[in-house]
Amino acid sequence: MLPTATLINYYHLCHRKMWLHANHIRMEHTSEAVAEGKQLHEHAYPQRAERYREIILDGSKIDFYDPYDKVVHEIKKSDKLEHSHIAQVQFYLYLLRKNGVDGATGLIEYPKLRQTETVQLTDEDIPMVESWIRDIERIVEREQCPGRIAKSKCRSCSYFDFCYVEEE
Ligand code: SF4
Repeated sequence: MLPTATLINYYHLCHRKMWLHANHIRMEHTSEAVAEGKQLHEHAYPQRAERYREIILDGSKIDFYDPYDKVVHEIKKSDKLEHSHIAQVQFYLYLLRKNGVDGATGLIEYPKLRQTETVQLTDEDIPMVESWIRDIERIVEREQCPGRIAKSKCRSCSYFDFCYVEEE
């Protein structure tokens, strides 16, 4: 079974976060950052109904897909470009391709930065995405939760309290 796009994103951020999420240990409901992200998604595209479609492919939901121009729009509240965002959108493009939609592209929008990032998926990228999928399967099946990453990268993570409870 394919991982979800959320797992692809987390895989590029922190294997521990990915493992916890995959094993249904969820903290997003306690996170202000997650709530802020949701709000942004809800208000960023009031015209969404006219142009964009919400589609679900192999268990992953694409919130804003433009079927006319074949563009996946992804909005990030982050104030910096992250490799994990690009990986997530490349995975959407991979899913579209697998489901018969060739030539789609992605556009990540960063309202806080007033910046956009175009994302492509080339033929050469396919083995890379498939290696992420295999690696994710391997990590998720482990009985042991992976270790923490550097604390400096954890501040906005919804699992922060869970990971550092004994230190706070
Ligand atoms: S708090 Fe840090 S170590 Fe824990 S899951 Fe989040 S990113 Fe990973």
